[in-house]
Amino acid sequence: MEVRPARRRPPRGSSPSARNTRIRVTVRVRPRIAEDEEVAATQPALTLSDECIEEDPERAAILLRRPYYDTREFSLDCVLGRRASQAQTYEAVARGLVDDVLNGFNGTILAYGQTGTGKTHTIYGPLSYWRKAPSQLARAEPSRFAPVQDLQPRLELSGIVTRAAMQVFAAIEELQSTGDGRSFNVSLSSLQIYQETISDLLNPSTSAGLAIREDPSHGIFVEGLSEHAVHSPDHVLELVEESATNRATCSTSMNRSSSRSHAMLLLRVEHSGPPDQVEDAEGGGVKRGASPVAIRRGLLNIVDLAGSERVCKSGSEGTRLEEAKRINKSIASLGNCIAALASGGGKGSAHVPFRDSKLTRLLTDSLGGNTKTSLCATIGPSLHNYDETFCTLLLATRAMAVKTHARINERIEGGAGGAAAREALLMQMRALQD
Ligand code: ADP
Ligand code: MG
Repeated sequence: MEVRPARRRPPRGSSPSARNTRIRVTVRVRPRIAEDEEVAATQPALTLSDECIEEDPERAAILLRRPYYDTREFSLDCVLGRRASQAQTYEAVARGLVDDVLNGFNGTILAYGQTGTGKTHTIYGPLSYWRKAPSQLARAEPSRFAPVQDLQPRLELSGIVTRAAMQVFAAIEELQSTGDGRSFNVSLSSLQIYQETISDLLNPSTSAGLAIREDPSHGIFVEGLSEHAVHSPDHVLELVEESATNRATCSTSMNRSSSRSHAMLLLRVEHSGPPDQVEDAEGGGVKRGASPVAIRRGLLNIVDLAGSERVCKSGSEGTRLEEAKRINKSIASLGNCIAALASGGGKGSAHVPFRDSKLTRLLTDSLGGNTKTSLCATIGPSLHNYDETFCTLLLATRAMAVKTHARINERIEGGAGGAAAREALLMQMRALQD
């Protein structure tokens, strides 16, 4: 089937000024890989095809076929067919959100799907890329570091993390080139949730577990998580490589390098300057004379979930079985939160079980609070995984009904107009919360 390039369809009300947004959902279909062929070879040839997926990027739809039974259609915000490149994926899933983060919003990118369907590939790129590639890959001029013919294919395969780091620093460079006194601070934190224990992937001495805390000024946060100032895409990638080596992975029969933990990368971008230089994304105008310094803080949270798996299919035993049970439990609690929110939960009508797992606790804002969220659900084409694919598509369509309430995180500091500006800001925030 001819797969046309994915079309970007902004969700309703997704302009930078939008206060109420909803989760934007993309489904990415993985091409056939060696594992699919292995599974197909062991199956009795009862049906004409061993695939159950037909994607239609033009209509942003997926057809899920069960031979001799039925065909179901799922409509999403965007569908990336199996030939979609990493660059197209970035455009569909991340670029707009990274712009929002540069403008002071919180943004979450969430890769969700059965194990072996391409979550880690989408977020980081192929693992071989990380093992072999020097961090210089992120540099805008690869020819300075290695022969272009060697680096180019690997640059093309780089995932959301590399591209987001490049976008952030390119935007900062452009804004700073105006020489009008803006300043930026970018920092990175990295954590994993492994068997309900949170550890800092950039500080392995915390493997005993970090606690989740909540307070009115910080919201929900991980106490003691290290934060590292970063100055270039290279620098980000060096730290990401370091954290990737500390992440729990193993080989299961469904994925030769299965991630056994949920991983979160937190990139904070702080932008300060005179208020008339920090663009007012609420109305496109500027706030003049209010105060000398406006500080905006955007937080980009990139989440590579561990994949759910059927333990009977993956052949897990012992520790692997325990891991799989914990992974499946937290993935189930994510599904329960999304189901409750999609059916109007969180407004008193239904309980949203955020506290059922560390994962959902940390994603509370991403699923209904002060965050714009982009979910990339990954699926494989194989009929063997029909049930898992059906569940993923069901969650993906439900997530489209989940609303969040993102606002620009801005603080005005100093100056004669500071008190008035702070008061105006507080009133604005109160109005948003109503
Ligand atoms: P997950 O993180 O969902 O468990 P991975 O990202 O590890 O899955 O992908 C499983 C395998 O499929 C890897 O070998 C990966 O390189 C391959 N793969 C995933 N998505 C794609 C894709 N879009 N194109 C080519 N290969 C892919
Ligand atoms: Mg993975």
